[in-house]
Order: sequence, then structure tokens, then C-alpha cells
Amino acid sequence: MSKKKLIFLGLPGASKGTLCNEIAKHININTISAGDCLREEAKKDTIRSQQIKETIGQGKLVSDELIIDILNDKINDKTQDYIFDGFPRNIAQATKLDEVLKSNNDKIDAVIYLNVSEDKLLERILGRRVCPNCNSNYHISFLPPQKEGICDKCGNDLITRKDDNEIILKDRINTFNNETKLLLDYYQDILYEIDGALELDEKFEIFKNIYDNLGE
Ligand code: ADP
Repeated sequence: MSKKKLIFLGLPGASKGTLCNEIAKHININTISAGDCLREEAKKDTIRSQQIKETIGQGKLVSDELIIDILNDKINDKTQDYIFDGFPRNIAQATKLDEVLKSNNDKIDAVIYLNVSEDKLLERILGRRVCPNCNSNYHISFLPPQKEGICDKCGNDLITRKDDNEIILKDRINTFNNETKLLLDYYQDILYEIDGALELDEKFEIFKNIYDNLGE
């Protein structure tokens, strides 16, 4: 059976990361968060990592070349299933991704759009806590860790991301509306929508149904 590649699209705070964590618990599929890959790269001590940190902090997109370079091995890997969460994020990245996949005789099988209304995002983003060690996501009200401030998975202290504040969120929402949203049209033939306001187990069931029914 050929391996699948899927894309997750959604506004910041749409619960893409949380759903990916849930999927990874139950299904043998690699969930790759473009943001996590960039934050890992940003931890290094290089000029490139400093630039990444600054760009993320401003709520802007890093260059298309950079994110494609960082995800290159995963894009080219045909031995496992992948979900790309947060990549591609504009038409240029999607076109380049298509080019690379085509040259590999590969393709994107499905694009999942997690749809949430913008008025829910601030509460979600301000309450979000993340583990800088294993990248697990929590929310102080909706998905609290067992012990306050501590990651259930690895015991590390949880942090608030620097870009999870009201001012930068506005820029991230604008970037989504001006650039990423165009991908809904671009991928219209393989697009599935999940209501981001549903409970996590309901979203997982809908996802599983889509995934199980993807053709060869
Ligand atoms: P969210 O989806 O909540 O905005 P992410 O963790 O996916 O958070 O992304 C955080 C930041 O990382 C983005 O605001 C952007 O600066 C950068 N980033 C993530 N994915 C991409 C991408 N595909 N292209 C360029 N920059 C990206």
C-alpha cells in the first residue's frame, strides 16, 4: 500500500497541534509541525537560528526556501505516512511542494481544514502552554496538564510561547487570511473540513474516517 501525505490547515489556535498529538497516539503516522521544526532550529546557535527566532516573534512567515529546506527529508520520504501541520502556508510553498512530490512520483492525498471562528482564538492562544522539550500542547482550561505547569509526557516545565500574545496573534491571523487561506482553493479537489469547535474525540473520529477512506 502506498504511503499517504496529508496537510493540516487552520488559523493559529485552531487545535491543529492538539489533534495531531491525539492522532499520533492512535495511528502510525508521522505528524510534523512546521512551527515545531522551526523552533527546534531556532534553539541552535547560528545566524539562521537568530533570524528564525525574530521572524516567529513577529508573527511573520520565514522564507519559503528555509522551511522547504528544513522539511526536505520528510517531504522526500516515501516510506511512512505524514501529516504536515502548518506547511505549506502559501501558494509558493504549495507549488514548490507539488513540484518536489511530482518529481518523486508522489502526491498530497488530503488536505484537512480545521475551521474555527476568529473570536475563539484569543482565549485558546492566551491559555496555551507548550513543552519546549517534547513540544506537547496544553491549555490551562480546556486541556490542563495533570500537575500545573508541568508536562505530563516528559516532566519539563511548560512555557507560554512568545508569539502567543494578543498583538502578535493579530499579525498571525492576518498572515493566515491573506496568504494561507488561498490554499483552500488551491487544494479544493482534496479538501476536507473539520469543525474545530467539536470535542477532541469527535474531531479524531472524523479524521480517522477520512484517513481510512483515502484511496490508493
Ligand atoms: P500557529 O499555527 O499556531 O501559528 P505554528 O507553530 O504552526 O503556530 O507556527 C509558528 C510560526 O512559525 C509562524 O507564525 C511562522 O513564523 C513560522 N512558520 C510555521 N510554519 C511556517 C511555514 N510553512 N512557512 C513559513 N513560516 C512558518
